[in-house]
Amino acid sequence: MPELYIGGRWVAAREGGRREIRCPADGSLVAEIDEAGPADTEAAITAAREAFDDGAWCGSSSLERGRLLHRVADLLQRDRADVARAESLDTGKRLVESEYDVDDVVGVFRHYGNVAAEDAGRVVDTGRPDVVSRIVHEPIGVAGLITPWNYPLLQTSWKVAPALAAGDTFVLKPSELTPHTAIHLMRLLEEAGVPAGVANLVLGAGPRAGALLSEDPRVDLVSFTGGLATGKRIMVSAAGTVKKVALELGGKNPNVVFADADLDAALDFALTAVFLHSGQVCSAGARLVIEESVHDSFVDELVARAGRIRLGGPFDDRAETGPLISEAHRDKVEEYVALGLKEGATLRCGGARPDAPELADGFYYLPTVLDRCDRSMSVVHDESFGPVLTVETFTTEDEAVEVANDSIYGLAGAVWTQSAGRAERVASRLRMGTVWINDYHPYVPQAEWGGYKQSGIGRELGATGIEEYRETKHVWHNIRPAAQRWFDGAEKA
Ligand code: NAD
Repeated sequence: MPELYIGGRWVAAREGGRREIRCPADGSLVAEIDEAGPADTEAAITAAREAFDDGAWCGSSSLERGRLLHRVADLLQRDRADVARAESLDTGKRLVESEYDVDDVVGVFRHYGNVAAEDAGRVVDTGRPDVVSRIVHEPIGVAGLITPWNYPLLQTSWKVAPALAAGDTFVLKPSELTPHTAIHLMRLLEEAGVPAGVANLVLGAGPRAGALLSEDPRVDLVSFTGGLATGKRIMVSAAGTVKKVALELGGKNPNVVFADADLDAALDFALTAVFLHSGQVCSAGARLVIEESVHDSFVDELVARAGRIRLGGPFDDRAETGPLISEAHRDKVEEYVALGLKEGATLRCGGARPDAPELADGFYYLPTVLDRCDRSMSVVHDESFGPVLTVETFTTEDEAVEVANDSIYGLAGAVWTQSAGRAERVASRLRMGTVWINDYHPYVPQAEWGGYKQSGIGRELGATGIEEYRETKHVWHNIRPAAQRWFDGAEKA
């Protein structure tokens, strides 16, 4: 069965392109799938535009769309095992993590199912009894959705669910490395009854399959999650048609630990903050910013525990984390560590590929700690997106805040302290879209997610995540129209 989904039909790539998908854990062939080119994306945009302009979908009631999203959530729950397995084969991540991801995706569809159903607009009091004035939300139109490989289905759900809730039609282009759960999702949307042309899927490399989504004037919004460099490119090409742009980009997130913290918990979370999914998490706590007085004991123990982290493939029950997504990405992480050492960081553990023969065919990299880093180093500022922790120190609260905020990014961060006052003071001064106090990583679909500074534009999830996907219209209704005679030359003469 072909894998592109355009205008309600499963079709092969027009130019016959195919791509091999290999599991990063051992290089085994997962499948060969269709690889779209610009002609396929053009066709998908046409289908989405026609489905939107036809008016039936965007004119459907928000209650109906809410029910449909809940139906998609039910289907995902039914297929949980298959979807999780597909996600693990594409990404190499542990099966249990993929299962959690599917549960999160179900929650996202339910959240937007509720948000859609609650949408009633707003009445405005104009102070004029002869006027009825109201604010209504309308779908934005055709949305181009571009997603990355680290949480393939989760990041996709953050866009597909609000697009459907709002009444948009869309063209989805997932990462070329991890297409399978997007294909599965489209099948479920079809089964749930999403009309032909509303949901369209093109698979393939970014510049060939994705570029049109930010260039074509028939697309009203491009919503992108991925790296900073690609995000900038998309913004530039979207400017040509003044397209709405929503960006969820990278981060270099500080995990700030004060000496008065519960250090046992802080240490445990410092490991998860950076080494979960081998650091391939946009909000990874890849900068440990620790009070100098506890640096030595904390980092010694952290290094000892990092050295014991067990690597392995998705179906290895003993594994605690998995491989990097590709050889090219591992090469990038290796270059990053080499740069850090050149800049003067001290290598405390890792800094190499594992030598276990059973891991030789996968793209593994050892959990790595670079100590005695400082803010002049690019290794501190650039996103490695791998299992690499840099360690910086501070001596005062002001310095902690200054160090943590010294970044072009502002996605997320954490503060660890048992002083309630300090926790709140620091949290309020951190310039980030998410701040955890005495915790790291949790998110819920009910809360907004997104970045300050160069971590992005806009917010996903929460009560306002749907706003990116709709327009706001003010309808002014004069219910007692009477001539005003502002321009009435005849009378004046
Ligand atoms: P990437 O920028 O390389 O690719 C992301 C997507 O963009 C892929 O689908 C890719 O094919 C596509 N793409 C590439 N060039 C394109 C172009 N010219 N036009 C249109 N599409 C194009 O990013 P990645 O390596 O897949 O993902 C990792 C990055 O994503 C990291 O920087 C990470 O921090 C970020 N990320 C951010 C969040 C967040 O919520 N802020 C979440 C997950 C990942």
